[in-house]
Amino acid sequence: MKRTLILAAAALAVMTLCVLAAIGYEASEGPRRVHQHLTGRQPDEGCSCDGTELCTHLPLVLIDTGGEEIPGVPLNEHSDEAAEGFTTTAEGEDMLRVQVAVLDDDSHNHHPSDEPDLQSSALIRVRGNSSRYFDKKSYLLRLTERDGSYASREVMGMDSHYEWALYGPYLDKSLIRNYMWYNIAGEIMDYAPNVRFCEVMLNGEYQGLYVMTETITSGVDSRVEVREPVEGTTSTGCVLRLDRGSETDIKNINNFTYYTYRLGRMHNISINIAYPRSGSLTQELADAIEQELSDFEKALYSFDYDSETYGYRTWIDTGSFVDYFIINEFTCNYDAGNLSTYLYKDIGGKYRMCIWDFNSACDNYTSLTTQPQHFEMQNGVWYYMLTKNEDFVRQIISRYHALRESWLSEETLNEYIDKTVAFLGDAVSRNFEVWGYTFEEYVPLRPESRNPADHGEAVQQIRDFIAERGEWMDEHIEILQQYSHPSKNKKFNH
Ligand SMILES: [Zn+2]
Repeated sequence: MKRTLILAAAALAVMTLCVLAAIGYEASEGPRRVHQHLTGRQPDEGCSCDGTELCTHLPLVLIDTGGEEIPGVPLNEHSDEAAEGFTTTAEGEDMLRVQVAVLDDDSHNHHPSDEPDLQSSALIRVRGNSSRYFDKKSYLLRLTERDGSYASREVMGMDSHYEWALYGPYLDKSLIRNYMWYNIAGEIMDYAPNVRFCEVMLNGEYQGLYVMTETITSGVDSRVEVREPVEGTTSTGCVLRLDRGSETDIKNINNFTYYTYRLGRMHNISINIAYPRSGSLTQELADAIEQELSDFEKALYSFDYDSETYGYRTWIDTGSFVDYFIINEFTCNYDAGNLSTYLYKDIGGKYRMCIWDFNSACDNYTSLTTQPQHFEMQNGVWYYMLTKNEDFVRQIISRYHALRESWLSEETLNEYIDKTVAFLGDAVSRNFEVWGYTFEEYVPLRPESRNPADHGEAVQQIRDFIAERGEWMDEHIEILQQYSHPSKNKKFNH
């Protein structure tokens, strides 16, 4: 009797832990990451300065190029033309050497003339794909020592790295999409890049609101285990990116779904190696990474794709693929699975997905009309096969319902939006003093009525989208089962 009770209690404890794990809460740990809008300096904490220069409660980044133009701007004017290459420095380099100062001490407001908390040489270029054509540029920043070697530094309380993406919300007039979804994904998944809002001045000129972002290659290097190449072997952790290819040949791999034309080759989509980085990536390592990915993809596209012994389960962290599916499907972030799609893997570990870029999510595509009343992620190269498996689809459905009770509940998301916007304070109006013309002159979304008239409307659009999308998915999530139904996936000889 006593033994039965103990067993029952143990079973209950295990069940409780499973439920907590399923809804994304770590018992007694609270949030898994820093949410700057909750922990950072608030806009109403005030400042005693005389207001003659920029005064912000947010971290401030000062970039001094010595008057040089930052390279990386497309040579052709329009993003719909074929790329003709990018501008370089006067010396023909891809990246420009600059001085960067960061003011990020949360105990007081920041002004351009304050003593910086971090000062560093850096290499900088414009980054992104279509966003390189925007008036407000996003940048890739690599901190360096005076001798040019890379210098890892803590920035705005984030882990120490030398490489950062300085993302400037432009198409996203709410300004909060990436900040919000990176942080929420970081609570749900094992890893999502760290982010902090900041304001940027370039050569003394105010550039508006930015989001300092850890690059995935930096983050997996330090926070989740993706190990460096083991010397003398072809064993290595890796980060792979599905996108429009790399300019460095060795990074582009000829994996199974590429040479069998299952990737979008018509649109020049391929997989390239983002980690190991250029300096440590050899042809032998690239070949081994290509072979391993192909082995996984062949298993996934094989007759035994769903078998416990030979199928996809031996290759992927199923929970990570499930969460990635749900987050991108919930936000209709349909570049995911085609562009800016990252997966990573440690030596001897399983493939996991990592989210990136919510610029166009929540109904913010320029031309793609994303109806909140459909599913799309099942068409992605790996999900096409995964969703043929009933277990995988059942996991999506049960995890979705659990997340709707926690991080993806309408109440949680609306509160997250409200508090984030309140945290930005005056920085919003400062940003739109520079970029506010976009509300009248830059209306890229079609139909034209989708373009918000002001920041408040842009934020409301996300709230409305979440309400509509959540309601539809709650009612229809079970229809994903059609993709795994035996009538659709009848095997030969059955
Ligand atoms: Zn001040």
